[in-house]
Amino acid sequence: MPQYYIWTIGCQMNKAESERLASYLEQSGYQATARAEEADFIVVNSCVVRQSAENRVINKLNALKPLKRLHPDLTLAVTGCLVNSDIDRLKKSFPQVDYFFKPGDHPPWITTQKAETELVLLQHPSPSTFVPIIQGCDNFCSFCIVPYRRGREKSRPLEEIIGEVKELVHCGVKEVTLLGQNVDSYGHDLPDKPDLADLLNELNAIDGLTRIRFLTNHPKDMSPRLIEAVAYLDKVCEQISLPVQSGNNDILKAMRRGYTVEQYRQLITEIRSKIPGVALSTDVIVGFPSETQRQFQETVNLLSELRFDTVHIAAYSPRRGTIASRKFEDNIPPDVKRRRLNEIEQLQENIASEINAHLLGKTVEVLVEGREKGKWQGRTRSDKLMFFSDDNDCLGQLMKIKIEKTSPWSLQGRVESSNTN
Ligand code: SF4
Repeated sequence: MPQYYIWTIGCQMNKAESERLASYLEQSGYQATARAEEADFIVVNSCVVRQSAENRVINKLNALKPLKRLHPDLTLAVTGCLVNSDIDRLKKSFPQVDYFFKPGDHPPWITTQKAETELVLLQHPSPSTFVPIIQGCDNFCSFCIVPYRRGREKSRPLEEIIGEVKELVHCGVKEVTLLGQNVDSYGHDLPDKPDLADLLNELNAIDGLTRIRFLTNHPKDMSPRLIEAVAYLDKVCEQISLPVQSGNNDILKAMRRGYTVEQYRQLITEIRSKIPGVALSTDVIVGFPSETQRQFQETVNLLSELRFDTVHIAAYSPRRGTIASRKFEDNIPPDVKRRRLNEIEQLQENIASEINAHLLGKTVEVLVEGREKGKWQGRTRSDKLMFFSDDNDCLGQLMKIKIEKTSPWSLQGRVESSNTN
């Protein structure tokens, strides 16, 4: 049987797309292998959101060169955000690659399969699975390459998503995470203009599905209707990701984010008042061009004030073609960026440690997703990672776990009762 190998880097969108590509390839008769050397078909699913990610992709493609030379019949395809409109240039830079295709596009070897099957079913779905609902982004934040590489927003029809989730549930999936660069824009380009709240309502009614999550939200687009839906739909988890990026209004303006710190703070207040116990995560960029120490301190102050469960921190890195790379000089020295990044990491470690310590002794519901180093691992409704021991096969079970130990990054507990499904 021919074998395939997929190498993925980047966001959950890429991971979801790789799962779908795996499914297509398996439907075409390929079998997965964990070793590139054994593969007949290799897909590199790339990310160029930061220079470090792009470097890793280039290194990977260079590392695959000798393999392709040794096995000229091997097919090497590249997708993800490395793939821009200038395919000819990419072909010149990476002659070892047979196909380049844009994220979400389907090259000929996949379209043939798609014509035969309406739904893309994963061969071995995890109990918790990603479902892309909208591709692309119309926002053009000044630092971001995504709209140039993934194109304008394109929502999947409501019925198609509902059908796919029903099939996934039929295959054993218990939890879906709806994905989009900006999930709050879902549906505006569809004929009946459904929104994300409509979609959540429909999915909440699917028998056998136990949990629904979604990411990523945009603070300027998140509607009161969506907050209500999270508050009232029992399967929608109390967890929202809402990137703030900076705590200073001038930086937010230069980033073209479309909201102020005051509006963001107000939104968080509203979410917390409507959804008790909600877990919040955010994203922050430090070292944006000309960010002063005072402006950085405002970000630190905002994070200290709002106390997120999770903060994803990145140091600014200019991406060629973006508005920021054209308009602003990357003038914050690397050591200053690193120091600012470390400071926020340390702050967040303390905050997460305190938030999680409050959970000690509580019993929470965990969906078991797998096993690592002899322990079962899963997530709470608020997306906390939990580890526990049990001799039974717990995969895919909803368990009640009493929390016995906490850290900033995860929880440990013991089983109170199994299978709350
Ligand atoms: S909302 Fe902004 S940061 Fe997010 S994908 Fe769109 S352009 Fe990029």
